[in-house]
Formats: sequence, structure tokens, C-alpha cells
Amino acid sequence: MDLCAICGGEKKKGKTTYSVELGFGVVVIRHVPASICTQCGEEWIEADVAKELERIVEMARKNKLEVEVVAFK
Ligand SMILES: [Zn+2]
Repeated sequence: MDLCAICGGEKKKGKTTYSVELGFGVVVIRHVPASICTQCGEEWIEADVAKELERIVEMARKNKLEVEVVAFK
């Protein structure tokens, strides 16, 4: 079973919203797949998902968008 590294609680697959403050604006990425701890609520994002998030943030940074809301695909 997949257990939370912080509290040892059970993790469940779910979706989360990831947001980053960029100084000039903010990026909000919705429907990000994550494992969420049922006990402490900590969200665990897999490496390949994290990489994709980075790519989206980088794109928003380049485009200098004040508010960017995207759905994770
Ligand atoms: Zn936990």
C-alpha cells in the first residue's frame, strides 16, 4: 500500500489544484493528478507530473500573464 511519508496515513489518488506566485502574476493549474493523504491531507505529486507543472509555469513566466488558469492534461 502507498503510505504517506509524513504521517504514515493511507494515500488516495485524487486531483488537486496547484498554484504558483510568480511576482508579476499567478498561475493556477487545475485537475492535477496527485496522491492525497487521507490522514494529514499532504499532496504528493509524481515526478513526471511535477515536470509538466514546471513546463506550464515556465510558459506563463515567458508570456508574462497576470493570471493564468489552466487544466492539467
Ligand atoms: Zn499524511
